[in-house]
Amino acid sequence: MHGASRIKEVVIINSIPPDLLSEPARAFAGRSHGLLIGGASVPAADGRKFTTPDPSTARPIAEVPLSGPEDVDRAVRAAHAALKKSAWATMPPAERGRLIGRLADLVEANADELAELESLDGGKPVKLAKIVDVTGAVGALRYAAGWPTKIIGDVVPQSIPGAFSYTRKEPVGVCGQIIPWNFPLLMAVWKIGPALAAGCTSVLKPAEQTPLTALRLGELALEAGLPEGVLNVLTGDGSTGAAIVDHDGVDKVAFTGSTEVGRGIAGRAGHALKRVTLELGGKSANIIMPDADIAAATKGSFQAIYYNTGQACIAGSRLFVHRDHFDDVVGALAERASTARVGPGLDPKTQLGPVVSAEQYKRVTGYIEQGKAEGAELVAGGGRGGQEGNGWFVEPTLFTATSDDLTMAREEIFGPVLVAQPYEDLGEVTRKANATEYGLAAGVWTRDVATAHKVAHQLEAGAVYVNGWGRMDPAAPFGGVKASGLGREHGREGLEAYLETKTIWIDVA
Ligand code: NAP
Ligand code: MG
Repeated sequence: MHGASRIKEVVIINSIPPDLLSEPARAFAGRSHGLLIGGASVPAADGRKFTTPDPSTARPIAEVPLSGPEDVDRAVRAAHAALKKSAWATMPPAERGRLIGRLADLVEANADELAELESLDGGKPVKLAKIVDVTGAVGALRYAAGWPTKIIGDVVPQSIPGAFSYTRKEPVGVCGQIIPWNFPLLMAVWKIGPALAAGCTSVLKPAEQTPLTALRLGELALEAGLPEGVLNVLTGDGSTGAAIVDHDGVDKVAFTGSTEVGRGIAGRAGHALKRVTLELGGKSANIIMPDADIAAATKGSFQAIYYNTGQACIAGSRLFVHRDHFDDVVGALAERASTARVGPGLDPKTQLGPVVSAEQYKRVTGYIEQGKAEGAELVAGGGRGGQEGNGWFVEPTLFTATSDDLTMAREEIFGPVLVAQPYEDLGEVTRKANATEYGLAAGVWTRDVATAHKVAHQLEAGAVYVNGWGRMDPAAPFGGVKASGLGREHGREGLEAYLETKTIWIDVA
């Protein structure tokens, strides 16, 4: 991927019609890009670069710097200096909140450009990028902007005569924040929002597949007036992420991505006794009870898996339908899948964009072939949705199976592939739903309020959706149990992950 030769990015971007890519997005993507270190846009110390492709055509759209250990070191130093020099950590909370709020306003003001860049770089439908990624990012920043003035310690009741003690919540320090490619801007904001609110500074690394919106977010942060070095953005690959994790000056690591990489990061951060939070993979079970509103459950279950072309950590990728409704639900899902529009992200008519990369295309189509070989029945999809050319298109694909031993029913595919299984009774289905190493999300469709609560309590997951799927709010904790992660983002718990508690004792005797 590290193509060192200059690409004709402007020419490539100019082949996209003006009604699909606005002038600001075109200008940004076609510009030469630098790392954001200490408020300055700079090349990588060793001059290395890599290209990021358009998943709809597989053609390169921009070149960005590939950060090495020296860049990581410079960024961490800048982040340290910002803690002290700009007094970010000790700035009046109202002022810190105001600056984060200003960043929210700027993301909102540039929503169209950011949505188009996200769609161009990652392949997702531009409408989805606007409604989910950009609007979600604005909401998460506004929520974070409210926190600085509400970070309070306690006065601790003392049984020791003559002692008075209270707690202070202090920022953890410099945070290494490593994010994936499925919701690039949104994941960036989920990471930096609480960190900045807590008074921490950040070294943010976007995924190599989708570097553009993080770089634009870095520019907007400067425009908002965030002091230099408070947010640093390092484009690069896995080696960049590893150098961030291992840098002595990083006090906390926050990571979203695969369980495999997350496990390695947890080990290294643990050894160095760094704070660490992880949002990892999932294989979420979605259960349709016999008494469910079947039409609503079918529609919701379709969205639960195929939304963002299945590239969501909470994707409802294992569907369990009571046998009384199994054929009807599978038939209706297959009908929806066969009529869904697969196409380029920037085409406003597209419902499912391509998957993000050649690697991901190979991985997803590999699971489809393996599923067939292992005896799952292909009911819909499996092809390219009528798309020609080199783009990485995979149509919504539906398998039925009677055994949960299939590889595709156990491993996270991270693509538009659903496996549906019939079940007979509640005990059987909750046991099957929980028989996974993962525990990020789960769902149940029922009209019975007692069943809803009972099943929600039994499912081993960080979030359970009843009669819906994928609701998110910056105030509601989000994260996984088991191999799906460590800690929570969002809400008070998400903020606490960026704070240390200091206890202060005063003798008043
Ligand atoms: P990944 O390798 O875990 O990448 C996530 C982030 O970690 C990226 O920024 C990546 O950088 C970085 N990274 C990679 N190796 C690292 C290391 N040794 N130390 C520190 N950082 C490192 O995920 P992926 O390869 O992009 O996707 C593989 C699979 O992960 C997917 O198929 C899916 O199953 C899962 N995934 C899950 C989520 C989620 O939201 N939970 C998101 C994305 C993917 P580079 O990308 O630049 O190499
Ligand atoms: Mg990777």
